[in-house]
Amino acid sequence: QTPVEDRRIRRLDEEVINRVAAGEILHGPVNAIKEMLENSLDAGSTQINITVTDGGVKMIQIQDNGHGIKKEDLPLVCERFATSKLREFEDLSSMTTFGFRGEALASISHVAHVTITSMTKDRPCAFRCQYASGKMISDPKATAGLVGTTIHIEDLFYNCLSRRKGLGTSSEEFHKISDMVSRYALANPFVSISLKKMGSKTPAVCTSGSGVVSNNIGALFGADISPDLLHVHYEETTLTTSTGTATFEAEMYATNPNYNSKKNIFVLFINERLVSSTTIKKGLLSVYNEYLPRGTHPFLYVKLKVPPQSVDVNINPTKSEVRMLHEQDIIAALRTRLNDNLLSCGTSRTFNSKA
Ligand code: ADP
Ligand code: MG
Repeated sequence: QTPVEDRRIRRLDEEVINRVAAGEILHGPVNAIKEMLENSLDAGSTQINITVTDGGVKMIQIQDNGHGIKKEDLPLVCERFATSKLREFEDLSSMTTFGFRGEALASISHVAHVTITSMTKDRPCAFRCQYASGKMISDPKATAGLVGTTIHIEDLFYNCLSRRKGLGTSSEEFHKISDMVSRYALANPFVSISLKKMGSKTPAVCTSGSGVVSNNIGALFGADISPDLLHVHYEETTLTTSTGTATFEAEMYATNPNYNSKKNIFVLFINERLVSSTTIKKGLLSVYNEYLPRGTHPFLYVKLKVPPQSVDVNINPTKSEVRMLHEQDIIAALRTRLNDNLLSCGTSRTFNSKA
């Protein structure tokens, strides 16, 4: 039994609140990198290089050539709820950037040592500063640089030892990182993205930014996928459903029935955001039940565009789970289209083998 005195209600310390909040966003290095990567994309970068040591626990560095952070804004970068992206609550329904909460860098700075170097095009040099617990702890120091931002994170979770103990091995954490970075590289074909382990010559992820999605699929997920890839474009459509009208547009890169794998790769982006949705995944993958041997899977990459008002991106702090209006109707339409495409390959295959 807790002594009566200890059961009194007290306000938590600011520092405790912030560290708890950080824990909700950052489950591991992969979440930190995802947030940084999204910031780099938000900044209009065309080249993003990520380097990590020890599965991201010891060091993460992400360098981009985006628009940079103004010197005057540097003191605010790691402050909680400080953002250049969201102004009014109403803007949430039409956000086109990944970020909007202004929490990511703040959280990271509460559980790691952060150094930011950034240069905007109206300045002749870059500025570098260090951050701890949401605050800038050194005055911006002028250094040579190129337009863009480099964020250097060291000793993730140095002050949350239980979180650190809960992480996987370096190679497990690196695997999660490379999986996530690959998915972003796939969805951003015009951005050259690389990921490597510090000291390693060969990058784990490397795309050219040339914009050819099928090449990227081969480079990122296996060269054996490319020859069997179907590109299905579902042009903008408005469906009349029992609950109103649903407008959507979809692009799918799906393997044909000649391909099957023990690996189950399903990548879903809704309005440029990497999301997970068990409903959509199950709905689409089950189309393959009639085409593939049991226990094997296709490669399927779905890029869905729906009106921003019809998705809720604010369900949880990691923003991974989204809810969409008219989900069932849209899934049904995509299933039909996917099936039609698979069916037509099936027919041509039979035809060929008879010939
Ligand atoms: P959010 O992305 O939700 O605004 P973050 O904590 O991720 O919050 O970032 C805070 C702010 O720092 C951003 O709004 C942006 O102005 C700036 N910022 C962060 N990373 C970059 C970057 N790589 N390039 C340019 N600006 C950045
Ligand atoms: Mg952000």
